[in-house]
Amino acid sequence: MLDSIIIGGGPAGLTAGLYLLRAGLRCALFERQFCGGQAATTNVIENYPGFPQGIGGPELSMNMAEQAQSLGLDIRYDEVERVELAGETKRVFAAGQELAAHSVILCMGATPRPLGLADEERLRGRGVSYCATCDGALYRGRDVVVAGGGNTAAEDALYLSRFARRVVIVHRRDAFRAARALVDRMEKTANIDIVYDHVVESIAGGQKLEEVALRNVKTGSVRALAADGLFVAVGMEPKTELVRGQVELADGGYIRAGEDTRTSLPLVYAAGDIRTKPLRQVVCAAADGAVAASMAALDLGA
Ligand code: NAP
Repeated sequence: MLDSIIIGGGPAGLTAGLYLLRAGLRCALFERQFCGGQAATTNVIENYPGFPQGIGGPELSMNMAEQAQSLGLDIRYDEVERVELAGETKRVFAAGQELAAHSVILCMGATPRPLGLADEERLRGRGVSYCATCDGALYRGRDVVVAGGGNTAAEDALYLSRFARRVVIVHRRDAFRAARALVDRMEKTANIDIVYDHVVESIAGGQKLEEVALRNVKTGSVRALAADGLFVAVGMEPKTELVRGQVELADGGYIRAGEDTRTSLPLVYAAGDIRTKPLRQVVCAAADGAVAASMAALDLGA
């Protein structure tokens, strides 16, 4: 039996692994896709300390994984299908096998929220995207729309302005949630148009996206824009399906946990974007991973 199983290989999970191993605990980490999580799909990370010029998200992610693996972290690239967290022995089921541990650290992160439009799913990957860093280069010389008003939307608009002919960023209010520095940069970028007080009403296209209709939330008037791409950046949803009904969730579906990362169940911790917290950043996720591992070590009497 292991001391701990980590679910999720983003900055929280990888840092938890690093700290568990340094505490002499036996652990394994499950990751269903690639290490780094959202950080791995971020072009440049400019607010992780220690990198005055910024660092590429994929590079930072690879470094984190390499560092944890150099200590012997057992990373298993399998999707966890089911967990049993209530008992003293925690059970994790993946790839047709069961793995047991005394503790579990939940680091599954969050995923982009869809707009909920008819045809959004059908046109996903055919003009509708949730990752500007992943897909932006496909829109060289094209016209794109970004939906959202947070840091992600602003960063996406700035990133896309390097490739696209024109970027229209559509925000439902008259003031951005995004940091002032990003808004200033958008305002100074010639090929970014900011459209306040509008939402995406509908999208249209046959084999690929052709048109995005915007509705003015104040007047109700609707206008259509020809667009090759729609980048949706309207916030995140925590990936808690696996643990729903087992650990306590808070409003918005995040796992209820405090700064000590302890959840409603003994020896079950939640670290990073998946838990209730005021700020969701790479640096906070990494910090959470360290705290969760330390709490697990403490609670296990290690
Ligand atoms: P966010 O901060 O929650 O922003 C979501 C945006 O989408 C808000 O402007 C919101 O409008 C809008 N929105 C939500 N639902 C909508 C809908 N149905 N239709 C239209 N608009 C909708 O999400 P995020 O930008 O993905 O960022 C997530 C977290 O990561 C945040 O804590 C953010 O600060 C952090 N982050 C930080 C950085 C950085 O520091 N460089 C970069 C990226 C992300 P309202 O403003 O009206 O609510």
